[in-house]
Amino acid sequence: MKRLILLVIVITSLPLAIAAQTTQEDVSEIMKTLSADEMKGRKVFTPHIEEAADFIAEKFSEFGLQTLDEEDDYLQEFHMESISLENSRITVDGKALDTDNFFVLASNRNIRWSENAQTDVKSIPTGADFRSEFSNLNQLEEDLIVFVDPTHSDMFQRYRPYFSRPNRSFSGESQHDKVFIMAEEPENFSISLDKNVEQLTLANVAGKIEGKRKDEIVLFSAHYDHIGVVQPVEGDSIANGANDNASGTTAVIELAGYFSQQPQPERTLLFVAFTAEEAGGYGSKYFSRQLHPDNIVAMFNIEMIGKPFTGKPNSAWITGFEKSSFGKLLQKSTEGMDYTFLPDPYPNQNLFYRSDNATLARLGVPAHSISTTPIDVDPDYHRVTDEIETVDLQHITDTINAIARAAEGIISGEHTPTRVDRSMVN
Ligand SMILES: [Zn+2]
Repeated sequence: MKRLILLVIVITSLPLAIAAQTTQEDVSEIMKTLSADEMKGRKVFTPHIEEAADFIAEKFSEFGLQTLDEEDDYLQEFHMESISLENSRITVDGKALDTDNFFVLASNRNIRWSENAQTDVKSIPTGADFRSEFSNLNQLEEDLIVFVDPTHSDMFQRYRPYFSRPNRSFSGESQHDKVFIMAEEPENFSISLDKNVEQLTLANVAGKIEGKRKDEIVLFSAHYDHIGVVQPVEGDSIANGANDNASGTTAVIELAGYFSQQPQPERTLLFVAFTAEEAGGYGSKYFSRQLHPDNIVAMFNIEMIGKPFTGKPNSAWITGFEKSSFGKLLQKSTEGMDYTFLPDPYPNQNLFYRSDNATLARLGVPAHSISTTPIDVDPDYHRVTDEIETVDLQHITDTINAIARAAEGIISGEHTPTRVDRSMVN
């Protein structure tokens, strides 16, 4: 009797297996792994994020994805430098300054400057608008010494902690030193800065299914990093990042699995888990420089699909909906389906600019984030309670299957979204 039941179950579940739709079991397994306490919140520059990367790469390998042309495995590694001041001594009219009277936006060179150096000297005088002066100077591509009038002491001390943190930049990228000193412009000065430079290795995880139109790329992405260990709340200090963004990463993995079982697509599909979204967006920045953005037809960036949107259970929203025809095309592909794609309901939250899609959109790619979380009231966002217990696994599963359907028209070449107007993206 038992055996017979088993047989019946196997037979009735066959059609599903052939359709290779994502199941809640698969989603649950991946979610559990990525949001486990052992991953310690997948913080960039920790060994724990490497475990997450290896896990994603293993999945890509199981599905038989190809690696990117220039890579010999699924890890798209790149290098950065973390630069901090090691020894610093600044004197102004012969008087040595306390360290809380200056900060440096630092390159990886050691500096010996005085009033005789060629370096440009600027000032933020009394009465000036500190905020806007600072932002103008910050954008200049040159070495600078800036004397900030002591009347700006409050603002100066507000900016100093932030800009005193180690400066991270891509290895080999040309950098400038900008030294902000709180003092009236002196007759003479000397600036001596020795830097400590730490080399960092990061990795996106990327796999490919080559289409018949090799150079027309449809990109599915999600960041897999999170914020790591934070202030303990009731004995828990691990921000597991189940919704943010194990859910999106799970979607990318499952979509890769699904499409790997379909016939060769018309367009090439890339599946990328980005690193360092939470720490400056370096993963997507690096990725965007390794290929020609004009070849990317559309970017489905998946962010926080762990919770259904308030009052609209079977729906996801698309950031920057009006910036290309991407959203409308997704709506067309899912007409009559029990799942809808809507414009972002939180325009004031600036979500279009708060994830990796913005990096590609600035290059003209129809690059949008797809999300479902009621971000304005979500009690778990960037907290230790963002755990597998607070997400809805069935909703994640439904959303992944809906995205697979919504992408069909673009993958088959039937639909091509309009490009994003770069002048409309800041
Ligand atoms: Zn996120």
